[in-house]
Amino acid sequence: MLFKNITYLNEEYEVITDTYILVEDKHITYVGAERPFDYEGPTYDGRGKLLIPGFVNSHSHTPMTLIRGYGENLALAQWLNDCIFPFEARMQPDDIYYGTLLGIAEMARYGIVSTTDMYYNIPKMTSAFTTAGMKANLSHTIVGTYGGDFTRSPVYIDSKRGFLNYNEAHDLVKIDIAIHAEYTTDEKVVWGAANLAKELKTGLHFHLSETQGEVEECKARHKGLTPVEYFARQGVFDVPANAAHGVWLEEDDYAILKEHDVTIATCPKSNLKLASGLLNYQKLKEHEIRVALGTDSVASNNNLNFPEEMRVFSLLQKYNSKDPTAASPKEVMALASRNGFIAQRRKDSGVIAPGFKADLAVFDISGTNFQPQDEILNHLVYSASGSDNLLTMVDGQIIYNQGEFPTIDLEQVIFEVNAAKKRILGELKGPGN
Ligand SMILES: [Zn+2]
Repeated sequence: MLFKNITYLNEEYEVITDTYILVEDKHITYVGAERPFDYEGPTYDGRGKLLIPGFVNSHSHTPMTLIRGYGENLALAQWLNDCIFPFEARMQPDDIYYGTLLGIAEMARYGIVSTTDMYYNIPKMTSAFTTAGMKANLSHTIVGTYGGDFTRSPVYIDSKRGFLNYNEAHDLVKIDIAIHAEYTTDEKVVWGAANLAKELKTGLHFHLSETQGEVEECKARHKGLTPVEYFARQGVFDVPANAAHGVWLEEDDYAILKEHDVTIATCPKSNLKLASGLLNYQKLKEHEIRVALGTDSVASNNNLNFPEEMRVFSLLQKYNSKDPTAASPKEVMALASRNGFIAQRRKDSGVIAPGFKADLAVFDISGTNFQPQDEILNHLVYSASGSDNLLTMVDGQIIYNQGEFPTIDLEQVIFEVNAAKKRILGELKGPGN
């Protein structure tokens, strides 16, 4: 497909107008001011539109779309123990499949092309992502403690089997290993999970220093070590590591994260909703630590509207640092796309230039919120709505186009998720509950 007369963001996030951009098969093959002379295929009228590298959601639990709005406004422990865990225990494989598809549809609608996800049931989730045509780094959550040989535990076996059966079995999906968090596992589990990732030569995804209480409890449990220091000793950072949150980092943590090239996946709206605290982005930037942007689950967000996430991140960082120059629009755009792709080990994506994968989103810039029509990057970060996204393309395939989802039967998905939620709520209210 040829995008003609379109405005786009180049590698430096400069706004370039009136350009021809050609996508052939999975790649961008041409970017230039002249129409490629021998091209005869379909064209897309780019007037009044902005082509950007598609967004990467760097921390998600996609099937939790099923739990959106359930058990709101409770303290964290009560919310988890009384609502989330009992609900999840009743989710069937098909519930995970349809919940994942609902999340994918919502992400595609807002310009997300890839997600780094931690949940359960790699087979069903892989099926949903490959059916819909969206990229994902999936991982089976390792949580809990296990007596005896951890390598014989169901979570270890599911994690390893998920990798062996599904990693790169399809172009779109990579399989990582997930450690839920320091406070939900023990040393044997963390060490075993880190070794499994090393053995499989894959990445690790985990929650890290999300709340102040977590850090204090970790120090009490592990002879004064912060979660970063403790994970470092267990070998967690010896493989490509994607750490969600990183809100409560301490002075010595930064050097460890930098040394091991760890990505911090910040989830500003989730941190606000659960009152966890604010990321110190300036400090991470000073230490040249890569930061990427994520939504966390919709149970603590409550949507997957990525431009909203960008804006909230940006405003919070200005407020937190008392510096209105903090988190420039170019930096925010890097967090929202390129940095997430690097963390996913997909360095062939996140840039609009020949040779890169065609993972793209098209924003409508003809509306009032993009006028006057200059400073378009500022408008994208400070003024855009997620609903301004018109088209989402992954590996050259259109997965969202002005209200249409060519790869997802959204009507069926909505029917199935509503039926699943009703069934599970019925079970929760049933005899014995
Ligand atoms: Zn999370």
